[in-house]
Amino acid sequence: MRVASTIPEMKCLRREISGTLGFVPTMGYLHEGHLSLVRQARAENSVVVASIFVNPTQFGPKEDFKTYPRDPKHDLALLESEKTDIVFMPSDVEMYPQGYSSWVTVENITEMLEGSCRPGHFKGVTTVVAKLFNIVEPNKAYFGQKDFQQATVIRKMVIDLNMNLEIVVAPTIREKNGLAMSSRNAYLNPQERQAAAVLYQALTQAQQIRRKGQKDAEYIRREMYTLIGREPLAKIEYISIADAVTLEELATIDRPAVASLAVRFGKTRLIDNVILE
Ligand code: AMP
Repeated sequence: MRVASTIPEMKCLRREISGTLGFVPTMGYLHEGHLSLVRQARAENSVVVASIFVNPTQFGPKEDFKTYPRDPKHDLALLESEKTDIVFMPSDVEMYPQGYSSWVTVENITEMLEGSCRPGHFKGVTTVVAKLFNIVEPNKAYFGQKDFQQATVIRKMVIDLNMNLEIVVAPTIREKNGLAMSSRNAYLNPQERQAAAVLYQALTQAQQIRRKGQKDAEYIRREMYTLIGREPLAKIEYISIADAVTLEELATIDRPAVASLAVRFGKTRLIDNVILE
């Protein structure tokens, strides 16, 4: 496994590659969710590149950029054990040198859900992902359904800007109690971790209600509010039943929909979602 920490090094390694390149961008502190993406990339490509970069521009001024968990040595050992070929691990100034001033923005679908709670977040995400795509030049890039809106926004950017790669979205990997794996779960204390299982319970309840034929989105939202509201440690930011393509809130579920939520447990903000068939 080769580790590139500068853009010229990464571009140089890229030039030596023939066959398809599968790319897994991450912010590190890797868990089984990330590794499932690496395994899928490994199965589908000749070469696998992962990146580890905690992207400062996608964090708001009051968010957890400084405290975001980091463990590069452990990450590299995990990536090596999954037969990753190249890890791109740039510094902040490598990606954003002094005087940096170019941004990629996707409109509309970035305004709701995560976009309304975290202004500027998606501008940081699309900019860094566009830069990474230009540096790594992947044939396929792998993203988790865990961040459903992020994957949707990136797909839109790739289509709108005619980027020459395929976006693959892989299922959410969960703990035994249903909690979606996330680097931020490291912030949870044992009580919060146990309490956070209510999120997946609410999402699976939404799926069950929908499967029984319920089309009233507000009814399902209310049931989710009630279940999560019973958990004293949970502070709901949003609960959404939205069109799975436009991410607009639905009154009636008459097309593919996504149930998603953002809930705080103490200082930890968690997001999760499921598709409603
Ligand atoms: P992050 O390091 O949080 O930026 O995540 C890097 C990639 O891993 C993103 O595409 C995430 O959607 C994906 N990911 C994070 N958690 C999970 C999970 N539990 N299951 C599947 N993919 C995940």
